[in-house]
Amino acid sequence: MIIAANFKSNLTLQKIKNYFSVLDSFVNGNDDVYVFPPFFAMQEKAKNFHIGVQNAYCEFNGAFSGEITLESLNDFGIKNILIGHSERRNIFGENQELCARKFDFFAQNNFSIFYCIGESLETRKKGKSAIEDFLSSQFDRIDVDYEKLIVAYEPVWAIGTGVSAKIEEIEETHNFLRTLTKRPLLYGGSVQLQNISDILKIKNVDGALIGSASLDVENFKKMIEVARGKK
Ligand code: PEP
Repeated sequence: MIIAANFKSNLTLQKIKNYFSVLDSFVNGNDDVYVFPPFFAMQEKAKNFHIGVQNAYCEFNGAFSGEITLESLNDFGIKNILIGHSERRNIFGENQELCARKFDFFAQNNFSIFYCIGESLETRKKGKSAIEDFLSSQFDRIDVDYEKLIVAYEPVWAIGTGVSAKIEEIEETHNFLRTLTKRPLLYGGSVQLQNISDILKIKNVDGALIGSASLDVENFKKMIEVARGKK
């Protein structure tokens, strides 16, 4: 099971230093844990879990004010990235063409790519074939066989709302996604200590991407503990 934490724009450097030190002594070699803190924490190190960046631009360096690029990621030894998170797509207007360009660039540079997809509530309400068409469109120009691809299915209406998708909805969608790629499929969207066990039991769910519930290290540790029972 892959367990990943997305801190988004939360916590401070000191809080993250403390968090990492607690987490690093808890995680062991059998766990597969990734943490995506804000960029200011990229210089922090961990022995037992992977650190990744939540976003970066697809160039080595240059005139891209406000963006992080490959040269600085190399400097910190970062090789994991989130691409296509719904907050990037919906708040910052990243379209499929840009997501695909980022994907190609970071795949060429051998990154593990957590590629996020997920439909809106409007699409969900239209039913199965609308959902499948929409999710398929989020794979346009994406190499679904890339060996370091990890897909995170995160329905937009379940992110940060405290209302996760239902077990049957996750199962049906992951079964569909399994027809598109053989790579690991994570579920994300209001995964909490109370529901992670049931979610990780679902067929074709290979792990979870966790936002709000990962911000407290003790809570995140308990979620990793649950995942240990599901190998
Ligand atoms: C996310 O944004 O990746 C996420 C899963 O958030 P939350 O767990 O808070 O819904």
